[in-house]
Amino acid sequence: MRKLWSILCIAVLCLIFWKMASWHEAVIPVDEQQILTISGEKKQVAITFDDGPHPVCTPRLLDGLRARGVIANFFVIGQNAEQNPEIIRQMEADGHLIGNHTYHHVQLNAMSTEQAMLEVTAVNQQLEHIIGSAPIYLRPPFGEWDHKADGPAEMISVYWDIDPLDWNTPDADVVANRVLSQVEDGDIILLHDVYETSVDAAFLIIDELLMQGYEFVTVEELYFN
Ligand SMILES: [Zn+2]
Repeated sequence: MRKLWSILCIAVLCLIFWKMASWHEAVIPVDEQQILTISGEKKQVAITFDDGPHPVCTPRLLDGLRARGVIANFFVIGQNAEQNPEIIRQMEADGHLIGNHTYHHVQLNAMSTEQAMLEVTAVNQQLEHIIGSAPIYLRPPFGEWDHKADGPAEMISVYWDIDPLDWNTPDADVVANRVLSQVEDGDIILLHDVYETSVDAAFLIIDELLMQGYEFVTVEELYFN
């Protein structure tokens, strides 16, 4: 009888260990990205492009963003938008945020308020004409302007956290490494979609950050979500 009890106890213990082992297996093989997605704490960045649209670089960038399912932010110069309205319409169709970067790429706080307002409102009216809605986000050229102190309060100024100086760096790897070595959750990355190397760098940055589990969002999502 005692022997029977011993066998029964061993059988029950084996069953408990087997259950624990299978439970352990069920929770362990989840990679970092899945954990972040499940917990709702996915890291976010906003990648922004100034000075376009450019007739060659911007369409190539848009194709690459679409292929990767990535949303970006474009701060366009009025003069360039006027030359390339179809590219603006493609940005809108792809779901990117389109912002104002003044009509002539001017330093807004180096001119009268009236002149600054003209530079900003000209682009707002132009985009309203091209895509049916005016932007509410403004990236002041050179980062030199404060929408609260210097101008129309309804425009929201967008600056940046990471500036890899892509405009004077002819090596895409260098540009990408400057961003990747310092990027953190919630950062705004500054690039320019008027250089081939900047487009190449953008793809390097995006591919690496997607692998690290980052999500690319609009500046609006970063500011208000
Ligand atoms: Zn600029």
